[in-house]
Amino acid sequence: KHNFSAGPCILPQEVLTGAADAVRDFAGMGLSLLEISHRDKNFVSVMDEAMALSLELMGLGDDYAALFLQGGASLQFAMVPFNLMKAEGGHAAYLETGTWATNARKEAHGFGKVTVIGNSSDRNFSYIPKGFAIPSGLDYVHYTSNNTIFGTQMKAFPKADSLMVCDMSSDIFSRQMDYSAFDLIYAGAQKNLGPAGATLVVVRKDILGKSGRYIPTMFDYPVHIKGESMYNTPPVFSLYVSLLTLRWMDAQGGLSEMERRANARAAALYGEIDRNPLFVGTAATEDRSPMNACFLLHDEATHKDVFDGLAKEAGLVGLAGHRSVGGYRASMYNALEQSSVDALVDVMREVERRA
Ligand SMILES: *Cc1c(COP(=O)(O)O)cnc(C)c1O
Repeated sequence: KHNFSAGPCILPQEVLTGAADAVRDFAGMGLSLLEISHRDKNFVSVMDEAMALSLELMGLGDDYAALFLQGGASLQFAMVPFNLMKAEGGHAAYLETGTWATNARKEAHGFGKVTVIGNSSDRNFSYIPKGFAIPSGLDYVHYTSNNTIFGTQMKAFPKADSLMVCDMSSDIFSRQMDYSAFDLIYAGAQKNLGPAGATLVVVRKDILGKSGRYIPTMFDYPVHIKGESMYNTPPVFSLYVSLLTLRWMDAQGGLSEMERRANARAAALYGEIDRNPLFVGTAATEDRSPMNACFLLHDEATHKDVFDGLAKEAGLVGLAGHRSVGGYRASMYNALEQSSVDALVDVMREVERRA
């Protein structure tokens, strides 16, 4: 099958094989990964390597901590203001570029003043607002780098004189950039890293402990840094699969290679969307996401059944667009082979030939 699912998403075959092996017999222990103590040295080394390799792939040093937490990216919507918004006179800014960005912004209201510096809901989040003003003296600015549902991606991240926070759930580890421009990055694993159940948080350590508010233990980043992501029982399976994926990315050539492949996949699919008169892309061209490509048939009534039938025959799965956009969404995460994109493009050409 060619898996275009938006999340949980495709994983490399060798990662799935390695994960299956570890479920049967982990590290030659004669026990399953799922039935050993997370304090066992074999698992502690999985956690340590996953945290270290995450920072290494992003080119970040030991002024940052990498954490693997639970609760999904959605829990980070609250954990970020808990830790970074000042108890007295707290103020943060959010760029509202999609449903996830809106959910993050809503959660922050309970913690202090929230300013929306830009919002693209006027055109169903089909573009990234630009040229917005950022107030000074904020606790932080919150961006969403890739809008999974609407297929847009931020190519530049306007700087502020405050901390910069970014939800990178759906494009983490897919491109090279200056990750040190951010003070806190978070991402649910299940889009580009592993199965659901783990959330990667990368945070500059010296920004923590300054909010002046009571933070419940499980919401407190320093607790998890001190506990080396094992303050409580970690989701060992998600962690192990994430480590295998991190190793896979590293072995393939790291983020420069992930970016090269993502650009090649995107060029092939968007090229066809633009060339083929039956289809139209929904996102503004300059903001198109290489991870999630959203497109419609001009004439669904005439061509939808043909397209869906041919797609099914070709083994293409996970192409249904999110209900708030409609049409189709091809998610092309790191593990998707170019040949899968070629198979989709072939189907689009065949629909045109039969029209
Ligand atoms: C999927 C997604 C989320 C939600 O992630 P959960 O881990 O399910 O909470 C948040 N932000 C973005 C950009 C996403 O794509």
